[in-house]
Amino acid sequence: MKKGIHPEYKEATVTCACGNTFKTGSTKDELRVEICSECHPFFTGRQKFVERGGRVEKFKKKYNID
Ligand SMILES: [Zn+2]
Repeated sequence: MKKGIHPEYKEATVTCACGNTFKTGSTKDELRVEICSECHPFFTGRQKFVERGGRVEKFKKKYNID
């Protein structure tokens, strides 16, 4: 077995655009992400709620319900 064929995985510090940091396994020491579990709409549910509300408004307008 030769060394250096497979990238060595180590603990990397991930810094998110929202300021949150967390650790993950990576070949790099540091990682920067735009979105993380702390601010991602899928995890917070905030964005999802807003989007749903917007769709209801569109639906109401389309069918003149109010
Ligand atoms: Zn984040």
